[in-house]
Amino acid sequence: MTYEPVIGLEVHVQLGTKSKLFCACSTEFGLEPNLNTCPVCLGWPGSLPVLNERALQLAIKVGTALHCEISERLKFDRKNYFYPDLPKAYQISQYDQPVNKGGFLEIEFKNQKGEVVYKKIGITRAHLEEDAGKLLHEGIKDGSLVDYNRAGVPLLEIVSEPDLRSPDEAYAYLIALKAILQYLEAGDCNMEKGELRCDANVSVRKSGETKFGTKAEIKNLNSFRAVQKAIQYEIERQIDLLENHGRVVQETRLWNENKGQTFLMRSKEEAHDYRYFPEPDLVPFTISRQTVEAVRKTLPELPGERAKRFIKNYGLSDYDAFVLVQEKKLADYYERCLAQKISPKLASNWIQSELLALLNSKKISIDESPVKPADLAGLVALIENNTISGKIAKDVLPAMFETGKSAKALVQEKGLIQVTDTKLIEEAAGKVIQANPKSAADFRAGKMQALGFLVGQVMKETQGKANPKLVNEILRKKLQT
Ligand code: ADP
Ligand code: MG
Ligand code: ZN
Repeated sequence: MTYEPVIGLEVHVQLGTKSKLFCACSTEFGLEPNLNTCPVCLGWPGSLPVLNERALQLAIKVGTALHCEISERLKFDRKNYFYPDLPKAYQISQYDQPVNKGGFLEIEFKNQKGEVVYKKIGITRAHLEEDAGKLLHEGIKDGSLVDYNRAGVPLLEIVSEPDLRSPDEAYAYLIALKAILQYLEAGDCNMEKGELRCDANVSVRKSGETKFGTKAEIKNLNSFRAVQKAIQYEIERQIDLLENHGRVVQETRLWNENKGQTFLMRSKEEAHDYRYFPEPDLVPFTISRQTVEAVRKTLPELPGERAKRFIKNYGLSDYDAFVLVQEKKLADYYERCLAQKISPKLASNWIQSELLALLNSKKISIDESPVKPADLAGLVALIENNTISGKIAKDVLPAMFETGKSAKALVQEKGLIQVTDTKLIEEAAGKVIQANPKSAADFRAGKMQALGFLVGQVMKETQGKANPKLVNEILRKKLQT
């Protein structure tokens, strides 16, 4: 029996505003506990909330980018529950009239055959709400402490349709969503600071079944990889339950990263009844169509569009374009390199393999790269016009990193200019053939691998400076006569 997983994600993003959603308190992270508080976000009687206009604009911006319908009316509701991190004992959220509803997000991922495929994932809604405070339990003997700096910080909760069918699709969805949010400058999406949080809803059903199975919701997912792993674990757990004549019970579970397992947090019976009702302190108002249009006009080129442009204009593969556009700064860096009229494909290869590897190993972000776009373009140009081989370039790039010098300067300084002098290469090839009679005989007997070895020897003989294409041609000529 085969099963099909069904997954829907709920993502909370902190919108990048300076002040909170309903008061003027700062949203700055990492300050002394309870410094960013006032009577409004502490829920003192008589205090009144006032909507942050910037947060609304950002919410509409995200909704527009996700192809949502933007509500005509802006209405807030109270979600009631008691918990010490919630000073008012209710959260101001949106219930039946979310600001954004009914959109989609296009994701890109590799299917099981390794092909890049695209899929549209439905967005049910994306609504505004305020964040709660933070409870601190660790290292405190008697009771817990609470920090309300985060209380009232603006969040956008983005809820997907149950359209995702694998952990990889869920991962791709998160990557695509984060990229859009960053392109829109809607928020920094730093998961370590809790600026992006994700809950995963997972169920399985027998292949061919049209009804959905009972879902479990997984919380406490701290990274996109954790989401992927937790979903995989949950799929296996649920299949195991069904196979062994049990049934899946609707419940909320927690992911334990160390154990690599999900655990029961609460069952449906304990689910909350939030008694939603309209927030009386925030009167509903109309979101004018002019406002929506004005926001729509500010939308930048989004990652999906940018990737398609890269494929069309620069001849990149789907996958290369996809990798470059995920991070806006990386795509910007790439396009700055192209200002120098170098091969777009070669530039993409050098950025994606060598440059990113160097940056990652040193934990430097692309916008802080000591090798600037013009410098990288200079290196690529030297490879393109055969001044140096790719092999030499691999040594030049780290030196550029260390010294900040241009590729040209380093190549001249170290005498690395590629040998295209046929005479020199012929000499070296002759030497190598003489020293390796067995390989030469093997090649003549039809063993093509032998040529690779001989090319390597000639490269060694010339300290890697010979043009490999020429070496290849010359060796073939010599061996065939
Ligand atoms: P709840 O009322 O439990 O919050 P919702 O219907 O609001 O459930 O859905 C919450 C999330 O769960 C959405 O992202 C939705 O796509 C997803 N979801 C709903 N039903 C299923 C299911 N059977 N399997 C997997 N995900 C589901
Ligand atoms: Mg829910
Ligand atoms: Zn406040």
